[in-house]
Amino acid sequence: LIAYLNGAFAPLATLQVPVLDRGFLFGDGVYEVIPVYSRRPFRLLEHIRRLGRSLAAARIDDPHNEAQWLDLVHKLVAQQPFEDQSVYLQVTRGPAYPRNHVFPNVAQPTVFAYADPLLPPAPALVQQGVSAVSADDIRWLRCNVKATSLLANVLLRQMAADAGVTETVLFRDGLLIEGSASNIFVVKEGQLLAPPPSHLMLTGITYDLVLELAATHRIAYQQRAITAAEVRAADELWLSSSSKELLAITELDDLKIGNGQPGPLYRAMYQHYLDFKRDVMRA
Ligand code: PMP
Repeated sequence: LIAYLNGAFAPLATLQVPVLDRGFLFGDGVYEVIPVYSRRPFRLLEHIRRLGRSLAAARIDDPHNEAQWLDLVHKLVAQQPFEDQSVYLQVTRGPAYPRNHVFPNVAQPTVFAYADPLLPPAPALVQQGVSAVSADDIRWLRCNVKATSLLANVLLRQMAADAGVTETVLFRDGLLIEGSASNIFVVKEGQLLAPPPSHLMLTGITYDLVLELAATHRIAYQQRAITAAEVRAADELWLSSSSKELLAITELDDLKIGNGQPGPLYRAMYQHYLDFKRDVMRA
């Protein structure tokens, strides 16, 4: 598999970064995950722009302009043996000696990119929905930054794995935030509800697309604070991410959501999502 590191493409297995890279020592970096269908990156510009915002928030100088990022992704995608891909981009503040929390005087960011094969969610998950557990959000207060320092997300997601379910739904001060690696939507009485973007959550590219599709198809939606009680009493609960697309959460902490089946609004929205994807790929 061909990957990219600091200006050159080479086989993934041959790539190495210095052990003093600040990404390794501090988790001092940011990243993106971009889905690619039939070798066409989906919502690429949105992902590259979010990467730019993450870099700015982390005070890492963007090593590339927008055109260079697009070119890098396209070149990487062209060299993979599979059609559907998940492209991973990472920029760290680079190597620095000696170890010191303070930024190095001259930072040389490490830029890494590679692609995994992308598998759409299994049809059974779309048909039957998935289960989730809930947890208090133990992360920091800058979750809008897509940082590689993911220890809290890793611990939270492992809670789901330990419980044999798909995702951990996070609450802070009794309010719905997002999943450990996804955004969460609620449906109540035909209305779609989404937590409002803030520094407490990552505004997903898929989150934005779902709301865009809601507007296009005249599905009423509101971005507002959602309480844990509202989540438990929801008619439908969804999760969204670039890799999981859109899935219905039909069980939360052993409590059935709605009637325990993916709801009608989920099925409609997922179809809009698939149609949108197909149209973009054809264009
Ligand atoms: N929130 C978190 C914490 C995530 O890790 C992800 C996945 N990147 C998302 C939300 C969903 O974002 P997107 O739709 O851009 O994949």
